[in-house]
Amino acid sequence: MFHKQHLLPFLTTAVFFGVTLLFSSNAQAQFRSYSTQPTASRGQAVQYGGGLVYPEFKNPAGSIRWIKDQMPLKVYVSNGRTIDGFIDEQLGAPYVNVNNLDSWPDVVAWVLEDPQRLNQLPVAEGFTPEHYQAVLQGINLWKPFEKEGLLSYQLTNDPMEADIHVFFVNHFVDKLGLALFAGDIRGYTAKRCFPLKQVMAGGKANFKPVLIMLRTVDTTGVPMPFNKMKASAAHEFGHALGIDGHSTNANDLMSVYYGRGVLSTNDAATIRYLYHITPDLIP
Ligand SMILES: [Zn+2]
Repeated sequence: MFHKQHLLPFLTTAVFFGVTLLFSSNAQAQFRSYSTQPTASRGQAVQYGGGLVYPEFKNPAGSIRWIKDQMPLKVYVSNGRTIDGFIDEQLGAPYVNVNNLDSWPDVVAWVLEDPQRLNQLPVAEGFTPEHYQAVLQGINLWKPFEKEGLLSYQLTNDPMEADIHVFFVNHFVDKLGLALFAGDIRGYTAKRCFPLKQVMAGGKANFKPVLIMLRTVDTTGVPMPFNKMKASAAHEFGHALGIDGHSTNANDLMSVYYGRGVLSTNDAATIRYLYHITPDLIP
């Protein structure tokens, strides 16, 4: 169903609620070997741009961010659509399950191949029109850095041209198809990344859409409250921009606690730092 053609080594990362999952293509041992390093090896927080840069922004395989040539990033927020209806016949479970986050970008790419597939996507149960507005507000919390010239992004109604896609799901499932209701897991971001040096050297990278999946209901099954959805979208968009891990400071948006639902001075310092350095990997 999905083809995996990699002309360059790549790495797919998916981040959620306290855990960073690393995926590497077959034979990319250089990434895999890094993936077992503890977080502490990434270094200590440093002062930058008015706050502390939390070292967890960096994937163990290197820093990840978009480069100027890719901007402005195009962001497509689907109107509540879900892609959890595609079933992996071998597993008997949705392709989009949390045990194969590395293949989520392939699912989006496959859906985009055929406009019919996209148009027929159902709306996730529990989605409300307010959720769409909450997501836009959450994503736009990163707009101040556009004024600083660090990055730029814009919404698009055309998923075909989008770099970052936002889809929704009522609840996440594992590879057995079992619903994961435990815990306040509100979203996942899956992005496939390629070594910048090899891309710049003319290597052909098989870029895939970055996928943000947001949950439409909270742990009690009621529609996600506006501010929680806004914070989830802002947090996942931070991952999509390249902040790979989680701050250990509960006051930061990029902690697993979503902080106060807005960017902290540390979140600001971290994105400023990330977009100041040359990345090792680009999505
Ligand atoms: Zn996260």
